[in-house]
Amino acid sequence: MLQSKLFTKMEKTPPRDEESLNAKLLVQAGFVQKLMAGVYTFLPLGLRVLNKIENIVREEMNNAGAIEMLMPGLQPKENWEATKRWDTFDALLKTKSKFGGEYAMGPTHEEVVYPLLKKHLASYRDFPVAVYQIQTKFRDEKRAKSGLLRGREFRMKDCYSYHASDEERDKYYDVMKNSYMNIFKRLELNAVPTNAGGGTFSELSMEFQVLCAAGEDVIYLCENCNVAVNKELSGDLAAKCPKCKDLTNEKKSIEVGNIFPLKETFAKNFNLVFKDNTGKEKLVSAGCYGLGTSRVMGAIAEVKNDDFGLIWPKSVAPYDIHLVYLKSNDRNVMAEAEKFYRKCLEADAGILFDDRDDVSAGSKFAESDLIGIPLRVVISDRTLEKESAEIKKRNEKNAGLVKLDDLDSYISKDS
Ligand SMILES: [Zn+2]
Repeated sequence: MLQSKLFTKMEKTPPRDEESLNAKLLVQAGFVQKLMAGVYTFLPLGLRVLNKIENIVREEMNNAGAIEMLMPGLQPKENWEATKRWDTFDALLKTKSKFGGEYAMGPTHEEVVYPLLKKHLASYRDFPVAVYQIQTKFRDEKRAKSGLLRGREFRMKDCYSYHASDEERDKYYDVMKNSYMNIFKRLELNAVPTNAGGGTFSELSMEFQVLCAAGEDVIYLCENCNVAVNKELSGDLAAKCPKCKDLTNEKKSIEVGNIFPLKETFAKNFNLVFKDNTGKEKLVSAGCYGLGTSRVMGAIAEVKNDDFGLIWPKSVAPYDIHLVYLKSNDRNVMAEAEKFYRKCLEADAGILFDDRDDVSAGSKFAESDLIGIPLRVVISDRTLEKESAEIKKRNEKNAGLVKLDDLDSYISKDS
């Protein structure tokens, strides 16, 4: 991508109408733009990050045997009345048609997926089934001031698994737990498995929490074991680690995912039953696995940054390489920069090329730090005097020179 063609402009200072660090950074660097409180447009750079996060989630869900589909965001009131959640669901965003119908803007999809699967599941032979979607969801938040950490409109992966018995469901819970650990490892995000069941650690209900001073959750963390218990649900039980029994530390955190068994009531509400191998009718057993993909993007921005801007992990960075050309009267400088750019494109490597002629070197470096691409490559008069390019990793302080002939080794295929 040529930076001269990127229509979005970076701001010189952080936006004044944002309180949270993630929104300050992401807006200033041109990743997202606020339409109203809790509602953001994903600009080209931001969409690349979001897509990379969602593709990692998609791959791991597929590996876990879940099958992707896409359910509607707009849901009929009748389904929410069937679960008695039309009047009780916290932050349900409701809308009315001028033709008389009433709808919910989906914050979650039990009301859609249960009746959907009722048409397809009849016999014990039909199990297990796990379906998921990655979709835009809505919550009617009173105060949405945390940027991507708490949106009125946000992106989420939600997965629902269906089983012929609770035992089978509990086995699949472990598959999902493993899958979540893989996702966060690939995102280079330390998301601490946190017991949310209110009791012992072995209970099957888990949140994944990212430590962060701006977080809305409070957890009791054991740093030896990298496990935690949510304060809200635990009472005094969590003062000691459930594994090693050492004292835990109270920390603020952001919940980026959760996995838990679904209550039997949904199956009862929609009469989701099947015939077991003796012909007896039984209620289906189900689990639910959520992960906020736009919130993950906000969490990464919130914890991976320095005084100069964002520091993206390679797996989700908008581009792998930021090639910066510094204006020169010597045509050879632009020619060398273009040569490297073309090589990267041919190798299918993700590269942003700052080819602009009307921006000072100081501004280019400041913007490059703000955007936070993992590797910066500078080609200028000074580097070419030594037949070299300057290389600097975003997460390291020092820059170094690399011979132009050796530059190819920095090109890696975009994931
Ligand atoms: Zn411990």
